[in-house]
Order: sequence, then C-alpha cells, then structure tokens
Amino acid sequence: MTHYDNSFAGHFGKLLAAREAELRAALDTGNKKELADDQHGNGEVRDFKDLAERELHLDMAALEAAHIANELSQVLAARRRLKDGSFGQCVECGKPMDLLRLEAMPAAAFCVPCQAAGEQTTAAHPPSARI
Ligand SMILES: [Zn+2]
Repeated sequence: MTHYDNSFAGHFGKLLAAREAELRAALDTGNKKELADDQHGNGEVRDFKDLAERELHLDMAALEAAHIANELSQVLAARRRLKDGSFGQCVECGKPMDLLRLEAMPAAAFCVPCQAAGEQTTAAHPPSARI
C-alpha cells in the first residue's frame, strides 16, 4: 500500500482547487435555478398536489444544496490541511492515508478504519430518528 507524502502536495492541491471550483459553480447554479422556479411558480399553484410536488422539489433542491455545501466545507478543510502540512494524515488517528483513497476522495479526512468507526457510531444514532 502506498501512502501519501508531501511530494504529492502539488497534485492534490490542483485536485482540491478544481473540486472547489466545481462545487461553487454547482451551488451557484442551484441558487439561480431556485430563483427562476420561484418566479415561474408564483400564483400558479392549482391544487394541493401541485403544492406538495413543489414543496418536494424545493426540499430536494435544499437537500442537494446542503450536500454540496457540506462537501465544499470538507474540500476547504483539506486545502487548509495541505497548507499547514497535515494533509494526508488521518484527522482522527494521525496515521498516513492510503494514496489511492486520497486519489478517489482528495477531501477525505479519515483513514478507512476511522471512517468506518465513525459511520458505525452515526448509524447507531441516526439523525433522522426524530421523524
Ligand atoms: Zn485514522
């Protein structure tokens, strides 16, 4: 298994910068689309089914925007780690990360065992339990 070292910093800096630009563009497009939908849908709600569908659509858009914003914050955190020299180490246990994992997910903050442990904890206490 090959692990990250600082000779890859330039490569991952480029990947993260490109991903950040993509995510910012996606957020921008989403915001514009929502505005356009609002103007179009103004006063055109005919019945409850239309209203429900419209709300569902807005929920989905909000969910997607939240997802993108979440990934963007991970990318920004990864770029900070790249700057301060801690990039490529697991935020949880401090071990060097697998290079292939970083190649697939440059913004990944945890090594595979730590990520798995974190997901198990989350699954035991799902945030959606209140529904
Ligand atoms: Zn770890």
